[in-house]
Amino acid sequence: MLKTLSQGESNTGFAAEIRGLLARLDVPAERYSGGSRIVRTPLTGEVIGEVAEATPAEVTAAVGRAQAAFEAWRKVPGPQRGELVRLLGEELRAAKAELGRLVSLEVGKIISEGLGEVQEMIDICDFATGLSRQLYGLTIASERGDHRMMEQWHPAGVVGVISAFNFPVAVWSWNAALAFVCGDSVVWKPSEKTPLTALAVEALFQRTARRFGGVPDGLLTLVLGGREIGETLVDDARVPVVSATGSTAMGRKVGERVARRFGRSILELGGNNASIVTPSADLDLALRAIAFAAMGTAGQRCTSLRRLIVHEKVYDALVGRLRVVYASISVGNPVTGDALVGPLIDGAAYDAMQQALQAAAEAGGTVHGGERIADAGPAEAYYVRPALVEMPAQAGPVVHETFAPILYVLKYRAFDEAVALQNGVPQGLSSSIFATDMREVERFLSAQGSDCGIANVNMGPSGAEIGGAFGGEKETGGGRESGSDAWKAYMRRQTSAINYGLNLPLAQGVKFDVDDGGLNP
Ligand code: NAD
Repeated sequence: MLKTLSQGESNTGFAAEIRGLLARLDVPAERYSGGSRIVRTPLTGEVIGEVAEATPAEVTAAVGRAQAAFEAWRKVPGPQRGELVRLLGEELRAAKAELGRLVSLEVGKIISEGLGEVQEMIDICDFATGLSRQLYGLTIASERGDHRMMEQWHPAGVVGVISAFNFPVAVWSWNAALAFVCGDSVVWKPSEKTPLTALAVEALFQRTARRFGGVPDGLLTLVLGGREIGETLVDDARVPVVSATGSTAMGRKVGERVARRFGRSILELGGNNASIVTPSADLDLALRAIAFAAMGTAGQRCTSLRRLIVHEKVYDALVGRLRVVYASISVGNPVTGDALVGPLIDGAAYDAMQQALQAAAEAGGTVHGGERIADAGPAEAYYVRPALVEMPAQAGPVVHETFAPILYVLKYRAFDEAVALQNGVPQGLSSSIFATDMREVERFLSAQGSDCGIANVNMGPSGAEIGGAFGGEKETGGGRESGSDAWKAYMRRQTSAINYGLNLPLAQGVKFDVDDGGLNP
C-alpha cells in the first residue's frame, strides 16, 4: 500500500521534537542554534538545526589535545580502557529510544532501522569490552639459541574518523570503540548532513566519561564541518590513522593525502553490490531478501543491493513478482506511519537518481518505478518509488554506484557468466548468492568466486553483523572495520627479539667477529 501524507501532516514540527530529544541527551542548545551550517530533515525539508562549524585552526588545536590525551590514555591498562567502553554501551542502552529516533529524524530511516543503528553501537561496545582483554600478540620460535621472539601491539595514537551521512553514528562507534580499547584518542568529523546525531553521541560520551572519572580531556573531540575540515584532519601528521567512510571520490583524495605523509588509512568507500539468483534458489526467500536489501534505507546503504543477476530459467517468475512488490511497497514518512521506504537524503540524491535512470533507459533498459511521489511529503522532501530496471547488458550507469533505490536486473545462462558479471564492476564491497546447489554455493565462496569483502549465501548483501570484519576490495578501498581482527589497524605492531644467553649468534648464520679489545675475561 502506498503510504501518503498530506502537506500539513508532514510539517508537524520535527524541529521541536528534535530540540526536545537533544535537550534530553544533554546537548546544549548553543551547539545546534545560531551557527552558519543549516541542517534539514529529509522527512520534510524543514530546518532542524544551525550548527557552528570548526575552523581549520580549531581542528589543529583539537589534534593537539587528542595527542596529549593519547599520551595519558595509552598508560591506562587495556581492561580499564574496556571499562570506559562498557559504560558507553550502558549509556547507549539507556538512550537507545531517543538516539534511534534522532537518527530516523535526521537521516530519514524507518524507526526500526534507527533503533537498529544504535543497537549496532551497543553490540560493538560489548565486542570491544571483551577485546580489551584480548589484544594478543604472538610468541615466535627464534632460530637463534637462547633467544625468544614476540610480537606486541601498542596503541597507534590519534585516530581521525571521517563518517558518511547514511550511518551517522554506527560507523563512528565501529572505529571509536576499538580505538579507545586499543589506547588511542579520536578526532571525529561526521558528515555535514548529520551533525545533530553526532552532537548527541558526543554528549553521551561525556556522560560516560564523567561516570568513569579521569578520562583525559581530548580523548574524543568532535569537529563539525565539510570537506575543508576533513582535509585539515587528513593532512595532520600527528594523526597516524585516518578511517574514512564515504564515496569512492572522497576516498581517492583522502587515501592519496594520507599516503603522501606515510599515514595509514582505513578506507570504507562505495559499493555496487550484486546478488546472483540461481535455478536452485528458494524464490520466496530470495524475494523477501531482495526487497529489504534493495529498497531498505531507500537504497542508501553502502551494502544496498544494486544489481540482480538472475538465471534465465527463473527470471520471469522472480522479476514478475518483484515488479508487484516494487509497485506496492509503502513509501512515506518513516516515523509517523508504517512506511518501509523513507525519503532520499536531499535533492542532489534525487537528481543523481533521475540521471542514472535516464542513462539506463538510453542504454536500452526498461525502467519500472523511480518517480517522485509528490503526495508523500512536502516540496522540500524527496520521496521516490524504488526503481527496478531490466538491463540488456552491464553497461552505463550499472557499473557506477548511484546512492538511491535503483535495482538493475541482468539475465544469465551459465554460472561462470554470472560470477563474471558480479565481479565485473570497479567496486568490491558486498555480494550474495541464492542457491541450494552446494556446488554453486561453494564455487561462489571459493577463490574463483566473488571478489568482494563480503559474500553471503541465501540472504542479501546488506545488514552485516558487527562480529565480522567489514569492508571491501577494489574501489571500495580495502579497509576493514568492526569485528574479527580489524582492531589491528588501530595499533602499531612491534616485533621484539630477546637474547637471554651469553653469546651473540646472528640470524641467517652471519659471522661478524670483532676483536673485543680484551674486555671479556
Ligand atoms: P561523501 O563522500 O560525500 O562524504 C563522506 C564524508 O567525507 C563526509 O564527512 C564528508 O564531509 C567527508 N569528505 C568529503 N570530501 C572530503 C575530503 N576531500 N577530505 C576529507 N573529508 C572529505 O559520502 P556520503 O554521501 O556522506 O555517503 C555516501 C557514500 O558513503 C556512498 O558512496 C556509500 O557507499 C559510502 N559508504 C560506505 C560505507 C562502507 O563502509 N564501505 C559505509 C557507509 C557509506
